[in-house]
Amino acid sequence: MLSRTATPGRSVSRPEDRAGAILTVDLAALVENWRILKKRAQPGCDMGAVVKADAYGLGLGQVATALKLAGCNTFYVAHLDGAISLRQIIGPDPRIACLNGPNKGTERDHIAFRIMPVLSTPEHIKAWCAFALKEEVLHESIVQVDTGMNRLGLSEREFNGLIAEPDGFLGLHPQMLMSHLACADEAQHPMNRAQLVLFRTMLGAFRTRFPDAKASLANSGGVVLGHDWHFDYARPGVALYGVNPMHSGGQPMLPVVNLKARIIQVRRVDTPGRVGYGADASVREGAKIATVSMGYADGYLRALGSSGVGVLDGIKVPVLGRVSMDLTTYDVSNVPDSATLPGGFIDIISHVVTVNDVAKAAGTIGYEILTSLGNRFHRRYLPAPIARVGQI
Ligand SMILES: *Cc1c(COP(=O)(O)O)cnc(C)c1O
Repeated sequence: MLSRTATPGRSVSRPEDRAGAILTVDLAALVENWRILKKRAQPGCDMGAVVKADAYGLGLGQVATALKLAGCNTFYVAHLDGAISLRQIIGPDPRIACLNGPNKGTERDHIAFRIMPVLSTPEHIKAWCAFALKEEVLHESIVQVDTGMNRLGLSEREFNGLIAEPDGFLGLHPQMLMSHLACADEAQHPMNRAQLVLFRTMLGAFRTRFPDAKASLANSGGVVLGHDWHFDYARPGVALYGVNPMHSGGQPMLPVVNLKARIIQVRRVDTPGRVGYGADASVREGAKIATVSMGYADGYLRALGSSGVGVLDGIKVPVLGRVSMDLTTYDVSNVPDSATLPGGFIDIISHVVTVNDVAKAAGTIGYEILTSLGNRFHRRYLPAPIARVGQI
């Protein structure tokens, strides 16, 4: 029989009390990061925001709304479904670009939701031009060229072929030519200049056909590289979310993410032994282990086994043994007993151990840590200050 205090089908406890870990997203810091990038940009450069993959795992709705209120007017997503959700979130005015291009049969949705497709292949161009001519629509699009990454975009040969054909781009109404940098996170990498030079050449050719076409090359790293890379539209992603956009050098961004995991058991080890699956970590007598309610199913990657670090009571505590699906064990031997109590929290991502630090320990990049963040966390959003809304 159900207790009288329980309503069938409805929980009565607070979500933060049920969750194993709490993720806090600081929207004020996010907005400040956007402003920091905007201040670095050359005058007239439109500072957009890449919000693909659910805004790098932090929540498309909250992130896009905060950035829009701060004055961001151009958003980039990967897929059409993301673009359609975003249109419903931010209303009719801001530009939305869909980076992965228009799949066959989706043209009408681009028109209906005013989404700019990024056209990256001769097939994209051909299909989009045919659609535009047949339906007599003047709909803005983006042409992407490849300048050395060999991932997405017209090759130099394909691009020059289309330029040489009198009807190569017939029916197209391009807003901009874009390309993507392969090594923008390494300031000294020769690819940055090489891609810039080729992009300028292709842009020159494109403007013989479309004199008003704008241009876009910079991701987060590209914004930091300098004005040469900025052109008309900048497309930062990761830096907005507090990840250092450069491989080395100072961190110019404010931290946006805080993650803390709940301690559910603390044990003092009586006899020397082993910890976790595979029993491959050893533990000495008298050591103290805290087990938290978070594991690789929450995006705390298994690669963090015996390499991750948390913070408890201001003291760094290493992961001991393998990360399990829903549990992770930390060596908290150096933390006073008063601070190692079940119900307490270990900071997993914080000012002390940043997204970049977690990524490094896992042998990956901040992007993967953010986009892996699980959906079981209780999520808290710290609002951007209202007083600043509208001021840029
Ligand atoms: C993801 C992406 C960006 C944003 O890159 P960051 O390194 O996160 O700033 C910009 N442009 C394109 C085409 C992308 O795919």
